[in-house]
Amino acid sequence: MQVDAFYSTTCNECKRIFSTEVPARRCSGCKLVSYCSRDHQKLNWSRHKELCRRAQLVLSQTGKENVFQAVGNSKNWWDVRIKAMFLVERTGVGPLLPYHREVFIFPDACRVCYATYPILLKPCPVCHTVTYCSDEHRLSDYQSHVRVCSALKFGMEVDISIVTSSFELTSLPSNTLAIQDTRPNLPANMEEFIVAYFTKTDNRVATVLLSEILTCVTTLMHTIEKSGDYFARPKLTLHILGPKQLEYSLFETLEILFHLYNCLKHLEIVFIGPECPPYPQNISLCAECLASRTATVDVRSSMMYHDYLSCSDSSVPDLIIAFNCGLHEFEGDISDTWIDSIPSFMSFCNTLIVLTSYNKLEAAKDMKRVLSVEQPPYIPRVIIECEENPFRGLRPHREWEHNTDSVFYLNNVISVIETCPP
Ligand SMILES: [Zn+2]
Ligand SMILES: [Zn+2]
Ligand SMILES: [Zn+2]
Ligand SMILES: [Zn+2]
Ligand SMILES: [Zn+2]
Repeated sequence: MQVDAFYSTTCNECKRIFSTEVPARRCSGCKLVSYCSRDHQKLNWSRHKELCRRAQLVLSQTGKENVFQAVGNSKNWWDVRIKAMFLVERTGVGPLLPYHREVFIFPDACRVCYATYPILLKPCPVCHTVTYCSDEHRLSDYQSHVRVCSALKFGMEVDISIVTSSFELTSLPSNTLAIQDTRPNLPANMEEFIVAYFTKTDNRVATVLLSEILTCVTTLMHTIEKSGDYFARPKLTLHILGPKQLEYSLFETLEILFHLYNCLKHLEIVFIGPECPPYPQNISLCAECLASRTATVDVRSSMMYHDYLSCSDSSVPDLIIAFNCGLHEFEGDISDTWIDSIPSFMSFCNTLIVLTSYNKLEAAKDMKRVLSVEQPPYIPRVIIECEENPFRGLRPHREWEHNTDSVFYLNNVISVIETCPP
């Protein structure tokens, strides 16, 4: 997990929010970060100096007041930020740390006109996550910002409490979910699931971090409950495509499936993708599960899904899942890795295809891509179409790809398709 988060409205060392009592003191070298005091600037120097020196080099080479001006004219604010980042990155050896990259991705700049230093910027008085050059610009952005202001505020609280209290929840706390005699009703959403089965905590940060560990397994259960009799099967085979670290939460959480679905005795999970991250070796199972159930996990890295299916030892899936898939993202691009894999989603009959996306717009594009496969061997029937996922992660993440401020949640929107005989 990333250990620091950059917010231009807070001290770069202690993360205290600036105010009239605690004015920002900008680093005079790079003009990119600020501090609440000279002491904190000194304290931070060993971690800041690399970025500061590289940025100073750009400023002295170009004679500009800030690194964003050094990029030259561009109407596209995203371009400006990325180019400024690369300009600074190129002055040294190796890439910038993720935290240093955030300094360019979320810089101190007016949300409306993108004015930066030496313009004096004032934050949104509610969330302190965005800044404006004038009241006029703040008011003109109000309609758009008010939709995400409180989510941004909460996201910042989470980010800062992780940084300042080195709060980290990377593994599952003990749960109260014993193996059930009959299948219990799945709670209606993530909040209720956590209250029902985990030690209730008043710590909101702990709850949102727990939700990110649970979102993959609970999204699977939500799918299974909405899609016929899958919960009654003695064996389930899951193909999980393009896994990132998030999907590996299943090593820890797949036991929940055994405890909730007492018919389920065998679970096989195959992770398939061109870039599977290194994975943990152990699946967490209790003594009772170890005695009466089997779970196997197979990771097929550096492989596309259609390549995997042509392997002689490939399995037949009950569910094919692509979490936060972005299937549409590189459509028509030469770097599109999904082009040959998507038609193979429909190689099996009575299989569920589960897609999650960060927002409805992306979900609709992802679905369109799957549904537009020509002459599939089996016919796709839509079960859930781009609905808000009640088991999404609860942590708001700052959106950085677009020029408008917004947030995204893991597994935010869900679609489910079942393949049927022609
Ligand atoms: Zn400070
Ligand atoms: Zn500096
Ligand atoms: Zn402005
Ligand atoms: Zn705000
Ligand atoms: Zn167990």
